[in-house]
Amino acid sequence: MTASIIDGKLHAAQLKARLGEETARLKAEHGLVPGLATVLVGDDPASEVYVRNKNKTAEGLGFKSVHYHLPATASEAEVLALVRALNDDASVHGILVQMPLPKQIREQAVLDTLDPAKDVDALTPVNAGLLLSGRARLVSCTPMGMMILLKQTIGKLEGLNALVIGRSLLFGKPAAQLLLAANATVTMAHSRTRDLPEVCRQADIRVAAIGKPEFVRGDWVKPGATVIDVGINRVDAGEGKTKLVGDVAYAEAAMRAAHITPVPGGVGAMTIICLMRNTLIAATALAGVATPEI
Ligand code: NAP
Repeated sequence: MTASIIDGKLHAAQLKARLGEETARLKAEHGLVPGLATVLVGDDPASEVYVRNKNKTAEGLGFKSVHYHLPATASEAEVLALVRALNDDASVHGILVQMPLPKQIREQAVLDTLDPAKDVDALTPVNAGLLLSGRARLVSCTPMGMMILLKQTIGKLEGLNALVIGRSLLFGKPAAQLLLAANATVTMAHSRTRDLPEVCRQADIRVAAIGKPEFVRGDWVKPGATVIDVGINRVDAGEGKTKLVGDVAYAEAAMRAAHITPVPGGVGAMTIICLMRNTLIAATALAGVATPEI
């Protein structure tokens, strides 16, 4: 078997087109322009690229997009004051504070200050709790991207065995909750799991979010399974070059899986557009306008 490739870029483009239409409609019918504020502290080059792409995508959709860049020496009090001001700004519906933050600023303090209604990364305890309660409005972006890809690729997930490797707050835990809500039978694996290869072979849906290049081997894949690779690892490609690989040994896994996400161009391609989806959802909720099905 050679797996069909789940094209994250294609699905992201389709979602972007729908969001563009909805943004135009909300403006025309309600005078509502979704607003996204990004906050970057310090000069980490990778974070600068991420934030720039987020602002560019927001502007391309017709959102209001504002960016605040604080120096690496900014104090926690300064960052919290900015977050409070953005909480109070009615033209801002989504606030994204780019992580990681310099060590003098506690991420927890930032998340505890952020208005959960504007928490478009869905990292606050309130949004994590709402997801657990089956009442989430804002869902962590990469897990949401995974669900969109799975539903559009295999349809109903009911009764399928889903394995999530990795239990981070950012991905693994919300991903498992979403799969459970879709009536999959969910197993979570982590660094203390015994006989991971055998656990993997039981999974109809296998999601890897570990952060170890090509850790999951092809013979761990149940024939006909769907493989979602969340890992993004930069490795040496020889001749002084580097390349990105996932947590799954792609070529091996593709020989046994029915569907597989590539790295790059798989689930990672969905993250920014799901952030925009959250911003539009937050805008409609804050404005008291019906949230469209997107
Ligand atoms: P993380 O916080 O780095 O945690 C890694 C997880 O993997 C932990 O739960 C850890 O288990 C587990 N793990 C480590 N070694 C393992 C092993 N040998 N066997 C089984 N499990 C093991 O996770 P993350 O933030 O979710 O990131 C994971 C990867 O996904 C990274 O490559 C990251 O870049 C990528 N990622 C991509 C996106 C995107 O595409 N936009 C978004 C999020 C993450 P313990 O809990 O037991 O330590």
